[in-house]
Amino acid sequence: MAAGGLAIHQSISPLTSWAGPSPKAPQQDPNSTGIQVELPRGRVPLSFIIDDSTCLVNMGKFCMPQFAATYPQRADYQKPWQEWPDEIPDSFVREFGEWCAEHGVKGKYSIVPYPACVGWLDRVLPGWSQQQLRESIQLVQKLMLPNWDIHPEMITHTRVIDLKTGRPFQDYSPARMENSYPQQDVSVDYLASYLAYALRILKNCDLPCEGITTPGGFGSRVKDKLPHAVLEAVRDVYSVDLPHYFKYIAEGDEDPHPRVEAFHARDGGTPDLVMNVLAGTGDWFGGWDGAEESRGSLYSNEDATSGRMVELIEKRQPAIMLCHWPGMYCGGSKEGFHDFQEVVIALEKRFANQTLWMKVSEIARYWAAKELTRISATNNAVQLAAPFACPAFTLSLPGRFSKVVVTQSGHPEPRQSDSVEKISLRPVRSLTALQPGCFFQSEDRCISCFDLPAGRTDLELQ
Ligand SMILES: [Zn+2]
Repeated sequence: MAAGGLAIHQSISPLTSWAGPSPKAPQQDPNSTGIQVELPRGRVPLSFIIDDSTCLVNMGKFCMPQFAATYPQRADYQKPWQEWPDEIPDSFVREFGEWCAEHGVKGKYSIVPYPACVGWLDRVLPGWSQQQLRESIQLVQKLMLPNWDIHPEMITHTRVIDLKTGRPFQDYSPARMENSYPQQDVSVDYLASYLAYALRILKNCDLPCEGITTPGGFGSRVKDKLPHAVLEAVRDVYSVDLPHYFKYIAEGDEDPHPRVEAFHARDGGTPDLVMNVLAGTGDWFGGWDGAEESRGSLYSNEDATSGRMVELIEKRQPAIMLCHWPGMYCGGSKEGFHDFQEVVIALEKRFANQTLWMKVSEIARYWAAKELTRISATNNAVQLAAPFACPAFTLSLPGRFSKVVVTQSGHPEPRQSDSVEKISLRPVRSLTALQPGCFFQSEDRCISCFDLPAGRTDLELQ
């Protein structure tokens, strides 16, 4: 990680950084029942986190002089930004988005709402016409939204904005840069108001969000407050049930699984919580500025036998890769994008049947359901009480069965008047064929996959 942590996400080391309260989540005891929540459809989730993207503005170019003014001694901020293109064009967004859709790639795509102070996406972007701005937002809505979560990456990703005036503070110092903000303790409410300010601009652009990305070291001094602020801000602006955020990278043997944070149970209602979803790789494409040499083989080599993504997939851990948008475009050479295509194709060739591309919000939801769904079993019947709905929930239990019937009710304790839905899962002959509405009987375990609603679900196995 670069010193100062600018534009690069922080490693989770040291692990003591988890100062937030540990979730008092009800969890099943797999030892007592032998029941286990499996990976979704029995597959390793893959995802692609893209930072520093926005509409039209090349963040690599416009951030560089602002970082250089803040850190005049840093040689890596003295690159020739004047020679770089102002724009990462929509034709490239289209090329990238269409290719990813063809290959099923999903993930998170940042939209910085006031990118490097160039302009406001919900008002005006100097250098581009109103029509170009409108069409650029429409392209994100149509092409990206189906497969990508949209996150604000704070307001500017450069200067801190005075929320009272909407203007950047006067002085250039690390204390006034979002990447290293705040430098002092602030309240959860203040932090939430800063996040909400960014979210509201995207809401004005009709871009839905279920989470946020922190730019670089944003919030690093208030790590315990950040999840509470995310919960408050995302719920307040978008009324979503399950907010999430991206800030950390799990390196080496660090645990890359999403974490439940800011958990607070509510009697009879949806609990409050935030999912912290970590990336599992560094950025090894063209870097945050698009001027680095791309090294795609660090994610996966050509035959997918080495690389960090391969390592995570082989360990059957979520394999979430990271990059910065200027590092896909690379000033127009698209070197990072070409490397990325090779990585995706290599992983596809070796692991297509064992992996599943998911949005970050889908991974967050799956792990929330995995951690928080109460599971109990008697004889050959399993009861689940789920605080959140979760597509493709996958459960295994010991024994051999030829029939699995799922009964679902929208309430924690169904009343007689409630309509219940009963479905008989369809047997499949291999684990790779498993999808919602199916079960697979292995040598000694029965693996069922179904869309889990919030509330009560019963499984009967025969
Ligand atoms: Zn960033």
